Amino acid sequence: MTAKTVQAAVTLDSGLDITPWAPLAKLTTFKVGGQAEWLALPKTPDQLGEAIRWGRDQGLAITMLGAGSNLLISDQGLSGLVLCTRALRHSEFDAETGRVVAAAGEPWSSLAWKAARHGLKGFEWTIGIPGTVGGAVVMNAGAHGGETADILVEADVLEPNGTLHRLKPEALGYRYRTSNLQGRSDRIVTAATFQLSPGHDPAAVKAATAADLKQRRTTQPYHLPNCGSVFRNPPGDSAGRLIQAAGLKGHQIGQAQTSTLHANFIVNLGKAKASDVLALIRHTQAVIRDRNGISLETEVKIIGPFDETAG
Ligand SMILES: Cc1cc2nc3c(=O)[nH]c(=O)nc-3n(C[C@H](O)[C@H](O)[C@H](O)COP(=O)(O)OP(=O)(O)OC[C@H]3O[C@@H](n4cnc5c(N)ncnc54)[C@H](O)[C@@H]3O)c2cc1C
Repeated sequence: MTAKTVQAAVTLDSGLDITPWAPLAKLTTFKVGGQAEWLALPKTPDQLGEAIRWGRDQGLAITMLGAGSNLLISDQGLSGLVLCTRALRHSEFDAETGRVVAAAGEPWSSLAWKAARHGLKGFEWTIGIPGTVGGAVVMNAGAHGGETADILVEADVLEPNGTLHRLKPEALGYRYRTSNLQGRSDRIVTAATFQLSPGHDPAAVKAATAADLKQRRTTQPYHLPNCGSVFRNPPGDSAGRLIQAAGLKGHQIGQAQTSTLHANFIVNLGKAKASDVLALIRHTQAVIRDRNGISLETEVKIIGPFDETAG
């Protein structure tokens, strides 16, 4: 990060404020991380487009943030413009056809309850995933045997030059918990269309959704800030099983702790720094490499500058 200069907030024609040196920790589920050099929370697609143009005109790098539920942001923060989509909310359900259209910032979990009310099956597994539609499309979020790629019809993807593409899943390079939209600041998901199965009893879909949520709440540490699964499951095994077998449950660095409930979660005990979390990630990787000869890859996206030689 470059040294901070005092800058005034900018208000664009649409009324969108772009705030300098804005704290990011509260915009993530981990509750860690520094400031954004510039931050905007557009409420409409037009505001999003205007903010992107502003960033491009200023020559700023753009980082997209949804619900920040799969991110470890550096304590030093992020340079450039951070665009958070969480105010970009809208969803439409067609109970007859099962089609669902949702804006990028719509909370993924909220779609599950709305779909259930419309008698639509296919979103139950999304319950408890605290991300947005945009984050789910980019990450190929999934659980309980379902994943975003299975139900996505098309994603609206905007380029910084204003070109909007309507892309089918086949064009998005979907694999386990990733897509070719990952790490691309020039590919911004603005909305997505999904196909669910119509004509089901709303009470039955609600009950299945509630059962999924209950199962999650008893097996995952929802009571403390975290980022979900820290590591991808290696082929044929589970990262949580390997970490638990290595005796790392409860292992702590600073205020970051490997969850005592689920070994593939790291929790923030209150005042964790991003550097504590990263140190715990690296320690876990080293232990599993030595013990099992397996290189655990991170599922959480680590962004911003980290001094990995410190400590
Ligand atoms: C308690 C808990 C449980 C979880 N359980 C699951 C689970 O069961 N399954 C699962 O798959 N995940 C799970 N996660 C992880 C996380 O919720 C998902 O990866 C989610 O899809 C991330 O969405 P997000 O909006 O928070 O994205 P963010 O974390 O904000 O961003 C993730 C990535 O997507 C990019 N991005 C976000 N929005 C856009 C956009 N509109 N356009 C372009 N790029 C964008 C970001 O730049 C970043 O690279 C869990 C997390 C928590 C905290």
